[in-house]
Amino acid sequence: MNPLKTNNADGAPSDMQHQTIIEPFRIKVVEPIRMSSESEREAHLQEAFYNPFLLHSSDVIIDLLTDSGTSAMSAEQWAGIMRGDESYAGASSWLRLEKVIQDLTGCPYILPTHQGRAAEHLLYTRLGGEGKVFFSNTLFDTTRANIEYSGATGIDLPIPENADTQSYFPFKGNLDIDRLKTGIAEWGAEKVAAVVLTVTNNSGGGQPVSLANAREVAEVCKQNGIMFLLDACRVAENAYFIQHREKGNEDKSYRDIAREMFALADGAIMSAKKDGLVNMGGFLALRDLELARACRTVLIITEGYSTYGGLSGRDMEAIATGLEEVFDPDYLHYRISSTGYLGRKLTDLGIPLLQPPGGHAVYIDARMLYPHIPVEQYPGQALVCELYRLGGIRSCEIGSVMFGKYAEDGSLIPAQMELVRLAIPRRVYTQSHLDYVIETFGEILERADQVSGYKIDWEPPFLRHFTGRFSPI
Ligand SMILES: *Cc1c(COP(=O)(O)O)cnc(C)c1O
Repeated sequence: MNPLKTNNADGAPSDMQHQTIIEPFRIKVVEPIRMSSESEREAHLQEAFYNPFLLHSSDVIIDLLTDSGTSAMSAEQWAGIMRGDESYAGASSWLRLEKVIQDLTGCPYILPTHQGRAAEHLLYTRLGGEGKVFFSNTLFDTTRANIEYSGATGIDLPIPENADTQSYFPFKGNLDIDRLKTGIAEWGAEKVAAVVLTVTNNSGGGQPVSLANAREVAEVCKQNGIMFLLDACRVAENAYFIQHREKGNEDKSYRDIAREMFALADGAIMSAKKDGLVNMGGFLALRDLELARACRTVLIITEGYSTYGGLSGRDMEAIATGLEEVFDPDYLHYRISSTGYLGRKLTDLGIPLLQPPGGHAVYIDARMLYPHIPVEQYPGQALVCELYRLGGIRSCEIGSVMFGKYAEDGSLIPAQMELVRLAIPRRVYTQSHLDYVIETFGEILERADQVSGYKIDWEPPFLRHFTGRFSPI
């Protein structure tokens, strides 16, 4: 049987002539992967304080740490790199990128930044501050950090289905509208700086948000005079799910669905390192002139002049092309199908996953895989270390290491879930790479009950998962 066979649960078209979904590209440039032994990897792990972020990438066999900035660029993007106009002001590469983003978002004011969090910093320091609150389906880690750094509070309001890893609800990324209304009533609308809808919901399992949910959020915001923002990093992947899962959208193009979603919002932040199909870049798109002017002033002070932000002309060419290529139906079909393939095979093996697989990643429920490890000993960290030890696979903990907090008495307030994310870089790995990952999980299962938990030996005050040091218990 063909492994990449169409799976209707993924909403793949049923009229495809062939059942095998192939990578819709040929490979023109290759990068070698260095193989290693388990004992070598054990030493690397120790040197990296059991934190995969501190590993050297050359010591990694399959790197599923993140899908961010890890895309392979197309021949057309590389050609754009040569065409890049490096003029300080008004470069043609900027004018092209500005137009592509305006057409996509419908927003007139576009601020280029070197990545998503720079746009977050511009906007959230402006909107945030002590006493303010931001509501979201789920804030991404840098988004939450930028909001909290401004002195404001970030509150996640995912729908209840999001917490049930075994629920097949088609739009588990949705925001809970009832809780949003309650939250606004409790805080008072004037204290609510904005509602941020993350599409797809990255920290909430890469799950999609429906158009209907986005419309409802927009409506509630409008009634209360609250700003509605899209964190649109994976808006193309989200559009794929809408076309295949949400009635009434079957005949729309992916791009039109994305445009419809942008049209509901007052502005958007996008890290181009995801659905921009590039290695660096981002932008802030706004409808309000005054706000755009205020953010642009800070942009010029901290990032660069307003027609390049933190980007070079060649970067802007590559982003413009990437934002067009990402809506190609063949690309999106392959993209979502290959994530679904990994998810399906791991499920067949008996690995507890957050179901159904998201767009850019498969999330493993580490608490279910290692029921003997208490959350205070970080079962997700145990799994990321095991994956590297056994297969040279780098993954990312999305649980209490990333989102845990301390109570006043020093005890851990754990995250809602203990997940490990296998993020798939775009257009980088082939099916046999994924088969290798699946095989490694067979070994993970065999020795699951012998795995111990971890403790934190050192941590910084913010974003501790990036630089924290761990040791096995
Ligand atoms: C990656 C990401 C960001 C931040 O973007 P960077 O380019 O990494 O700074 C913000 N929100 C979401 C949902 C993301 O996935």
